[in-house]
Amino acid sequence: MASSKHDLVAALTDVVGARNVLLGADIGDHYRTDIINKYNCAPDCVVRPASTEEVSGIMKAAYAAGVPVTVIGGQTGTAGGAIASPGGIALSLERMNAIEEIDTVSMTMTVQAGCVLQIAQEAAEEKHAFLPLDIGARGSAMIGGVIGTNAGGNRVLRWGMTRDMVLGLEVVLADGAIVSSLTKMLKDNAGYSWKQLLIGSEGTLGVVTRAVLRLRPQPTSNQTALVATDSFDDAARLLRDLEVSLGGRLSSYELIWGDFYSAMTETQLSVRPRPLATGRAFYILLEMLGGDAEHDPAEFQRALEAAMESGLVVDAVIAQSDRERQGLWAVREDFAPFLANFKPFISYDVSMGLVDMPRFVGESQRRLATAFPGCQAMFYGHAGDGNLHILFHMGPDTAAREKEVDKVVYEVVRAVNGSIAAEHAVGVSRAQFLGMSRSDAELSLMRKIKDALDPKHILNPGKVLT
Ligand SMILES: Cc1cc2nc3c(=O)[nH]c(=O)nc-3n(C[C@H](O)[C@H](O)[C@H](O)COP(=O)(O)OP(=O)(O)OC[C@H]3O[C@@H](n4cnc5c(N)ncnc54)[C@H](O)[C@@H]3O)c2cc1C
Repeated sequence: MASSKHDLVAALTDVVGARNVLLGADIGDHYRTDIINKYNCAPDCVVRPASTEEVSGIMKAAYAAGVPVTVIGGQTGTAGGAIASPGGIALSLERMNAIEEIDTVSMTMTVQAGCVLQIAQEAAEEKHAFLPLDIGARGSAMIGGVIGTNAGGNRVLRWGMTRDMVLGLEVVLADGAIVSSLTKMLKDNAGYSWKQLLIGSEGTLGVVTRAVLRLRPQPTSNQTALVATDSFDDAARLLRDLEVSLGGRLSSYELIWGDFYSAMTETQLSVRPRPLATGRAFYILLEMLGGDAEHDPAEFQRALEAAMESGLVVDAVIAQSDRERQGLWAVREDFAPFLANFKPFISYDVSMGLVDMPRFVGESQRRLATAFPGCQAMFYGHAGDGNLHILFHMGPDTAAREKEVDKVVYEVVRAVNGSIAAEHAVGVSRAQFLGMSRSDAELSLMRKIKDALDPKHILNPGKVLT
């Protein structure tokens, strides 16, 4: 190891202690890749700080040495954003996992960035409060990661993205400066909102160390249903009708195309029965969270009955227990059995105005089938937010032709004025296509921001901006 590297390791060891600087064979496999396991890179070292001051010390040392730093959270990101750079440092916040305060008067939670999302959700619940942020990867994703990616998930329709839940933020900048504003206010227009700039910046502008999250009163009733419609227009009308009839309490609206519903439930049959017969054009998972456990079930049922009478909904099942509720969500979230036979695959996370969704799906299906005969493309997503996920497979050649497939999909995204990265981040896999969603002027502004905050480009280089 060159002496400058020795000096850097010595400086890092001074900051976090030898036990928390991992080198060579001590760097476990999980620090080298992420859940998708598409990109791999062994960092030169892994550092595991226990406080904001230690993060600051690490960044000062890395800044002085000009060495790249990649923050890693739960490594559930799907765009390769948490893969370290060659010769770089992986900064793991796993030891900074405390929930520092739950304030049930202000309805806030102050939490360190390494806290796992589900643990934060459960801690809120114990205090009869509710952290609405919810994603399939809740058991591993960390607060720093969901803030770093501005995660969305299942309840954006009602409570917004992560950025809508972050009241206060603390970050460490590239040069080690600590910027802390752990405030609890909803209203704060005092100057530029640097907080919003940092949220969703994927570790390229600063390291999130702590946050104040907004909590809500805990819902006391959960109504979940799976319904079927015969057309996209009916599905879109149902969304607007239910928003009105349920008085703004519709929290999830997850749309699954009929062929994907058949395929997913087929592979789950050995574990659970199919909740609705196949053969319909669309299946929609609906969730209403309310505060009146006595009357909410009847109200929910009435709303669905009205939708059936008007012909919008052609089949429906309402969960009558927690177990049934989990069974309905599994239709959307239990991917493992399906993916076992769908490998290798490419996944997309795009968004557009709801009005453009049928055109997007029809056009991408047409172009993909022409360019890659025999391919399979499955569509589903948080359609209430205009967000679609696509799973694409074309046999053993899938990975080799990924960039060609990307181009086809993203050209259709551009045609509908949509986004190539709705909620799963840009990372490395989407960075070269950013121009399909952003103008030259926007990209130039982003580069100026990057240059100003990270002049040496040591924070997660190669991610977001190429
Ligand atoms: C099964 C499954 C379901 C998912 N469902 C959803 C979903 O519904 N909605 C959704 O939005 N996403 C979803 N995701 C994607 C993923 O879970 C989210 O992007 C999540 O927010 C990443 O959190 P993480 O802690 O795993 O971050 P990582 O994957 O470790 O990191 C992601 C990015 O954030 C940066 N980062 C991490 N920590 C920090 C920090 N402290 N400060 C600054 N930057 C940081 C990293 O450098 C990297 O660029 C899903 C993923 C899986 C595997």
